[in-house]
Amino acid sequence: MLDVAFGVRDQWGAPPGVTHCCDMMTSNVDLECHRCSDRYECTDNLVTFIARWQEYGLIIHDGGTSYVTIDFCPWCGARLPESQSDRWFDELEELGIDASDVDNIPEDYLTDRWLSRSDPVSG
Ligand SMILES: [Zn+2]
Ligand SMILES: [Zn+2]
Repeated sequence: MLDVAFGVRDQWGAPPGVTHCCDMMTSNVDLECHRCSDRYECTDNLVTFIARWQEYGLIIHDGGTSYVTIDFCPWCGARLPESQSDRWFDELEELGIDASDVDNIPEDYLTDRWLSRSDPVSG
C-alpha cells in the first residue's frame, strides 16, 4: 500500500489524452462524483490512476489516500503499464529533491509531464 504522494490529492479523472485498456476502466477512472471532494473519499470510486507514476490502484476507503496497486485490469484482464514510481523517486533524488516535501517537487513531477521530458536525468 502506498499513501498517495504525501498530501497531494489527485484530481478527478485522468489527464486529457490518456487512454485506458477498456471502456470499463475508462469510465471508472473518469468517474466524477459531485457529492464528494475527491476520489479517495468517494465510495463509488473503485480505482485510481496516478498519472505521474502510470499506476493503477484499487482504492482503500479508510479515510486516507491509500490504494493497492494492480498489474492487471479487473474488468478486461489487460496488463497495465509498468509503474514508473521507482524512476520517479530516483529522478527526484538525483535532482536533490526531497520527495516527502511536496512543496519542493517540480510541477512536472506532480503530473505525467516528467515522463515525456526529452532528457531524463537517469536512464
Ligand atoms: Zn461520491
Ligand atoms: Zn481493461
